[in-house]
Amino acid sequence: MSIEIINGDITALEVDAIVNAANRSLCGGGGVDGAIHRAAGPELLAECRTLGGCDTGAAKITQGYQLAAKYIIHAVGPVWYGGNKNEEELLRACYRACLELAKDYQVETIAFPAISCGSYRFPIEKACEIAIEVIKDHLLEERNLKVLLVCFEDKISRTYSRILDKK
Ligand code: ADP
Repeated sequence: MSIEIINGDITALEVDAIVNAANRSLCGGGGVDGAIHRAAGPELLAECRTLGGCDTGAAKITQGYQLAAKYIIHAVGPVWYGGNKNEEELLRACYRACLELAKDYQVETIAFPAISCGSYRFPIEKACEIAIEVIKDHLLEERNLKVLLVCFEDKISRTYSRILDKK
């Protein structure tokens, strides 16, 4: 099973696809979204503008433009409102949507940021559990896929490590 935790900037990775923690407009934002748009260049925004936005819990794919990655999968995670707004199911759906797109586009290596764990305020422990659960499930069927969990904060990499060691 190939899940690797790495620390650093997702925009620098040489993988087939990186995932963006986008918002519903798909027109850029702060956090990892801003970093990806800056690194990929203005053609990315031009393509995103043709996509008509994206629902929460879903994902859409674009080219990677100036990134080393061939594709960017723009996933819209839920904002955490306390847990009674279907947030956990929406985050699960979001990871699943990315993995389905990766399969459709024959992606062999994919890197995820911690979707919803920044300005969307999802509790880190829960978000990391969901990510690992959905990814492990998917890897049972897609044995050749390599998944990188990219962490920009120590707290997230520590949480992922603990969960992976436990299971
Ligand atoms: P969201 O709005 O989905 O919460 P954020 O971009 O605010 O998205 O945060 C998601 C996670 O991405 C956070 O853990 C944040 O630290 C991390 N992050 C921010 N910039 C980068 C980057 N360049 N590479 C990887 N992860 C990043």
